[in-house]
Amino acid sequence: SQPSIAELDASRLITTLTTQNRSVPKLGSKEIASQKIATDHMITARWTVESGWDAPELRPYGPLSLMPTASCLHYATECFEGMKLYRGFDGKLRLFRPELNCMRMLKSTTRIALPAFNPDELLKLVAKLCATDGAKWLPKERKGHFLYIRPTMIATDSALGVERPKEALLYVMLVFFPPMDNAARGIKLLASQDDMVRAWPGGFGYAKVGANYGPSLVAQGEARRMGYDQILWLFGPEGWVTEAGASNFFVVWRTKEGKLQLITSDLDEKIVLDGITRKSVLQLAAARLVPGYEGLEPLEIVERKFTMREVEEAIEEGRLVEAFASGTAWFIGAIGQVHFRGKDLKIPMGKKEGEMGAYTTLIKGWLRGIMWGEEEMKTHEWGFVV
Ligand code: PMP
Repeated sequence: SQPSIAELDASRLITTLTTQNRSVPKLGSKEIASQKIATDHMITARWTVESGWDAPELRPYGPLSLMPTASCLHYATECFEGMKLYRGFDGKLRLFRPELNCMRMLKSTTRIALPAFNPDELLKLVAKLCATDGAKWLPKERKGHFLYIRPTMIATDSALGVERPKEALLYVMLVFFPPMDNAARGIKLLASQDDMVRAWPGGFGYAKVGANYGPSLVAQGEARRMGYDQILWLFGPEGWVTEAGASNFFVVWRTKEGKLQLITSDLDEKIVLDGITRKSVLQLAAARLVPGYEGLEPLEIVERKFTMREVEEAIEEGRLVEAFASGTAWFIGAIGQVHFRGKDLKIPMGKKEGEMGAYTTLIKGWLRGIMWGEEEMKTHEWGFVV
């Protein structure tokens, strides 16, 4: 008879706790800034084409063992997710819409011939790791802080044949990240040139595959060297504005007809990542920026292709109100400047020096409230208490 192919199943988890007493890095320390420090444990789960998913394991964090011929080291059969574990101001540990990350992980694995899995099971494994290490590594005294969660999948076949992987490893770790706050001076972006394209129709820009990130680092390094924080990725001869670094990009502008709009690129061409922060910004703005809210002028919410030339024109004509980047790592970051075709374009921010624009501030505040349990009732449906 055919051997059965096992599904990923969090209820089969095998736990081996660490016996080493590692210490938690101090806030503001060099270790935290290094982004090299993980917590005590990690999740691993092995997959083979013959038998499917082995029982997942929760085990001490440490090196993986791979053959030099491993598929992921040669053919970029690797994808990942990025989410955060938040220590709420109410003391609770929360994830933010983690089911969306788990579903996006499945989209990514599918794009690069890595195995499918039930996203609910991945979420259970992530939650288990957070529950195991959260109390020690993100203690109650660290309200308003977070750990970065990195679910990853790699093909581990130790054979150089260029073919669909027959073996894979899923793993998840929790890593310290320095706080990221670019608010004061605003993020400075360098618009990409035609010789550096992040993603293209028919490609894989919509997936969180490693192959999207490595090749972007030449441009990013160049941006840093020139004093910019990140690349603003443009696409095609029209110069469509797609994303900013590893974040989605939003503009608030007034159209020539006088309408106030919140605009971001649509996802139609599959060249833009379907950001969970992006989705949340759009949903919150639609639900809350109703006429009369806090005396603010309501916005029309628009998802469409728009060009850097349109942005430039809005700046020239004084119609650009504010711009921000949205993503798990940077959260909501006000944009202060974009360099485009030899010109440094200044993007308006708040009224006072170092302040973000009113809409950026409002949206960031709403999301903060949900992520860190400050929202009225403290039980917003997007907060997943661990
Ligand atoms: N675009 C890219 C290319 C990214 O890597 C990320 C980070 N995942 C984002 C946008 C923002 O997505 P999210 O809000 O889900 O973090």
